[in-house]
Amino acid sequence: MTANPAEIRSLNRGRQTKIVATMGPASSSPGMIRDLFIAGVDVFRLNFSHGSHEDHHERLKAIRALEQEFDRPVTIMADLQGPKLRIGTFGDGPIALEEGQRFRLDLNDTPGDQTRCCLPHPEVFEALSAGQRILLDDGRVRLEVKSHGADFAETMVIAGTKLSDRKGLNLPNAILPVSPLTSKDRDDLRFALDIGVDWVALSFVQRPEDVAEARRLIGGRASLLVKMEKPSAIYHLDELIVLTDAMMVARGDLGVEMPVEDVPGLQKRIVRHCRRAGKPVIVATQMLESMVGAPMPTRAEASDVATAVFDGADGIMLSAETAAGDYPIEAVSTMDRIARRVEGDPLYRTILDHEHYDPEETAADAITAAARQVAHTIRAAAIVTYTTSGSTTLRAARERPEVHILCLTSSLETARRLGMVWGVHTVHTEDVASFDEMVKKAVDIAKRDGLADEGQRLVITAGVPFGTPGNTNVLRIAWVD
Ligand code: PEP
Repeated sequence: MTANPAEIRSLNRGRQTKIVATMGPASSSPGMIRDLFIAGVDVFRLNFSHGSHEDHHERLKAIRALEQEFDRPVTIMADLQGPKLRIGTFGDGPIALEEGQRFRLDLNDTPGDQTRCCLPHPEVFEALSAGQRILLDDGRVRLEVKSHGADFAETMVIAGTKLSDRKGLNLPNAILPVSPLTSKDRDDLRFALDIGVDWVALSFVQRPEDVAEARRLIGGRASLLVKMEKPSAIYHLDELIVLTDAMMVARGDLGVEMPVEDVPGLQKRIVRHCRRAGKPVIVATQMLESMVGAPMPTRAEASDVATAVFDGADGIMLSAETAAGDYPIEAVSTMDRIARRVEGDPLYRTILDHEHYDPEETAADAITAAARQVAHTIRAAAIVTYTTSGSTTLRAARERPEVHILCLTSSLETARRLGMVWGVHTVHTEDVASFDEMVKKAVDIAKRDGLADEGQRLVITAGVPFGTPGNTNVLRIAWVD
């Protein structure tokens, strides 16, 4: 795909909603990663459930090379596998199951057969109770616990016809005494931080304490995202929102752990609560699933993507579509087109305005709420936020203004992390030292990046003295000349 660097740098994508794409065998070569970026990817997701450290490192290097080529920050998220429970293997390949038959799970690590298989997780046996449901292979197989001990469970097959090696296991509604960071996750986390990812996503979070441990290990070297995929996490939704930097509605596992009919309502609730708190939120999984094998999505999938955009989610995510599908570029450009079309729909603004949240009693909220109002009243071309930590820009995005937010920051980490946030176009640049310089730089970059033309106005927020974090106290209107 051709695109020259100046075009891409000035490409403000023409949309507010960000696209997250998962990397995998279908998207490994530097050429394909470049094409995905040009097609519209804002955040690249390295999925540590698959692939080696070397694979992830090679992809990260190719993504960072794009930053050099196109002179704009690009966002990279490492998604840790978490305590995904899996059964062991079978001696003679996949087994056939019949409804009503008995099936035993135990700690014996010899290959399984028609009657039993290994479940190498003692903590599961401790958490079981008679009558409880166990789901295997994303819910395709359902077992009911008849009896259990410290190292076994006797179950009855309720549904399902086939089981094969290493399928996943879910225990709906059970709180397991496990950390969301396994020893593999700890290794992966160390590695991901060493190679310099911007976000770390935590899988299977159950309780607020789970986030505290991850936070300590990350130590500020990346931002933290909590994946919502356990009923217990939903129970602690608001506490988790306070503790995390962002959330993902991980509908894949959520729809196995909970009835699938609960997922749409939970999606709306998570998006709404995150937006109210000003924390970025991504809607994930199966958004354009049929595009794994087809160049066009189903109408229902197009509508699903549109719903997340209408709801004002910060990001919409592609999983297998870009990681292992036959049409990764088409999936990104389809998502891009749907998001743009929805954002151009008159109902989009009506819905966003209806879901507008009052500012909190802080200087940053007072300034960013005023910036949105002023931009609306004078029909400004963009809001410009000077930020160090990124917190003012997040508050500006919480306002969901009608115009793009141009974020200018001297921190490369902040510039990269904010790539996941609704409506934010980040530029890494040096600090300014005076008001005149502040205005000139904002005007020059807004023009260069296609966010404003001569004769338009910008609404600029900054903190004086310049370069002091958490100090936003100025709102200035500037003409673009
Ligand atoms: C999900 O379950 O929806 C999800 C995003 O997690 P993963 O792809 O890691 O299973």
